[in-house]
Order: sequence, then structure tokens, then C-alpha cells
Amino acid sequence: MSEKIEKTKCLIIGSGPAGYTAAIYAARADLKPMMYEGLEPGGQLTTTTEVENYPGYPEGTQGPKMMEDFKKQAERFDSDIRPGIITDLDVSNRPFKAKADDGSTIEADVVILATGATAKWLGIESEAKFNGFGVSACATCDGFFYKGKDVVVVGGGDTAAEEATYLAKLCKKVYLIHRRDELRASKAMQHKVFNTPNIEMVWDSVVEEVLGTEEGFNKAVTGVKVKNKKSGEYREINVDGVFIAIGHKPNSDIVKGQVDMNDVGYIKTNPDSTLTNVEGVYACGDVQDHVFRQAVTAAGTGCMAAIEAERYLSSQ
Ligand code: NDP
Repeated sequence: MSEKIEKTKCLIIGSGPAGYTAAIYAARADLKPMMYEGLEPGGQLTTTTEVENYPGYPEGTQGPKMMEDFKKQAERFDSDIRPGIITDLDVSNRPFKAKADDGSTIEADVVILATGATAKWLGIESEAKFNGFGVSACATCDGFFYKGKDVVVVGGGDTAAEEATYLAKLCKKVYLIHRRDELRASKAMQHKVFNTPNIEMVWDSVVEEVLGTEEGFNKAVTGVKVKNKKSGEYREINVDGVFIAIGHKPNSDIVKGQVDMNDVGYIKTNPDSTLTNVEGVYACGDVQDHVFRQAVTAAGTGCMAAIEAERYLSSQ
């Protein structure tokens, strides 16, 4: 029996703000996009609680609710949104070929990569327990909730340094906990950190436990238990928020070796464009953006990708 091949003009891989926005625009341009939602439908926003910085929600909204709204809007137009993941993608010849974990084989005229990035976590049980209830991986998203309070940032790279200096403007005190005795961050960022009076460095230390309270569905962080790796001593630091800033991993493995990326795997796109080095393949959202990483910027690049895809297809 010959294999059944489904054809689509536009295959969107991934379903965060970038993917759904690409679907809304592509559907309205009559491309009838097919989307595979991926491992985490709705993307990183589904792991946050309150979102107050997305324009159009004057009272704020919940991350998962916002992603449901994005999805409903994409479905209102003619988007074929499917649960599941694309397991293989070949963009060496057109039409591009993809295989999904539901057994489908797909041929696509254009592909929009919106697979996002995954925040790295410490991997301790209490971190997962308080995720979204005082533990966060995004200071710009959640810092506001800790105005005037004390927080911890974990990490020693540019992200940790940037998050610590950002939070220092809002919070009373920021403890920057790093596992070594020197920061990996650029010298300029180090200079900022060391010259911000309300940032205290906690060197050579690892967070062993996030401390907190739990009453029914109400959970709140009250501090961290930290071990000094050199002295072996333990210390408890009382804080209301814990920001993990130990890096992100872009979800770009599916096009590794096929599409140009930087040395840590962020997909390269042309300036002012979402086009990759492969004609007809676009990348939007966090899989191509390690700088801004916001829902609104991801949505913006999702829109760009769909418009560019539509223009490319019309020119064929
Ligand atoms: P990095 O990989 O540069 O840094 C990660 C940091 O987290 C390191 O200090 C590392 O420690 C620490 N770390 C990693 N795993 C653990 C763990 N399990 N427990 C405790 N600590 C851990 O990631 P970033 O997100 O900071 O930066 C990624 C890239 O993006 C970099 O190239 C950076 O320069 C760039 N960037 C640039 C910015 C800018 O230009 N404005 C802003 C943000 C990022 P150790 O040092 O010991 O390995």
C-alpha cells in the first residue's frame, strides 16, 4: 500500500505566541496552515501564571488562558491545528517533507519554525513545586510582582546579570547566587552588577531547596536553602521570589545541519526578516531570538513569518 501524503501550503511547527500568530495571519491570507502544536502546546507561557505586560489585557491575564485565546483565534479562521510533534523534517528539497508522531507524512510549500526555547531549570523537586508561585525563569515577565521585596537570581551568565540588574530597580534586595567564584557574564554586565548597591553576590553556592508555604492551592516562596560548595556550610536566605537564569535551550534540533544557526542553536534569520538561509523556511519567536524573548515580540515575528511566507508563495 502506498503511503498517504498530506499536502499543505504552510506547515507551522510549534504553538506559542509566535506559532499561533503565524497561524492567524497565514489563515487569513488563505494559506490554510497546518500546525503541529509540539510537546508543550501553548509554549512557555503555559508555565507562568499572571501576565500583565501583554498589550490588550488591561487587567492582566493568566498565561495558559492567553494561549487558549490565541488558539481559539487561530481556529476561528481556517487553521488545521493538531496535537503532536513533527519528528522529522527535510528541507533539502521542495516541497519540504515532514513526518509527525501521529503517523502523518506531510508535504509543505513553506515551513514556519516556531518551536521556541526551553528554560533550563536546576532540576530540584521544590523548584518544580513552586514554579509559577514564586519561582520563575523570566524577570521581565514576573519581576513586577516582587516590587519592594527581596528576591534571588540563580546563574552567572549575561542573562543572570541582566535579570539581577533589572530586578534591582524594582526590588529591595537581590541575591545573585552563582556556583563559582567568578561570573561568566561579559565584563560590562559584571561591572553593572558589582556597582548596583542592592545586589549581593553569593559566591560558590548552589540552591539545594526552595522553601515555601502551601495551603490548598495557595503556594508561596519564603526563601532558599543554599550550600556553599567550598565550606560545605548551609545558609537560608529569606526571599519572596526565585529567578532561575541558567540559560535556555532553543528547540532547533529538528533542523540541525539543515538551517544555519549560531553556536548554541538559535536559528539565524536575515536582518528585518524571519527568513532562514533556506528559501521558504522561516523562523519566529524564541527559537531565533535570544535577546528579547517576550510573548509580544514572539507574536510580532510570527506575524512577520506568515506575511513573508504568503508573499513568497504568491511570487512563485
Ligand atoms: P550562559 O550559558 O552564558 O550562562 C549560564 C550560567 O548559568 C553560567 O554562569 C552557568 O555557570 C550557570 N549554570 C548553568 N547550569 C547551572 C546549574 N545547573 N546550576 C547552577 N548554575 C548553572 O547562559 P545565558 O542565558 O546567561 O546566556 C546565553 C547566551 O546569550 C550567552 O551567549 C550570552 O552572552 C547571551 N546573552 C546576551 C545578552 C546581552 O547581550 N544583552 C543578554 C542575555 C544573554 P558556569 O558559569 O559555572 O558554567
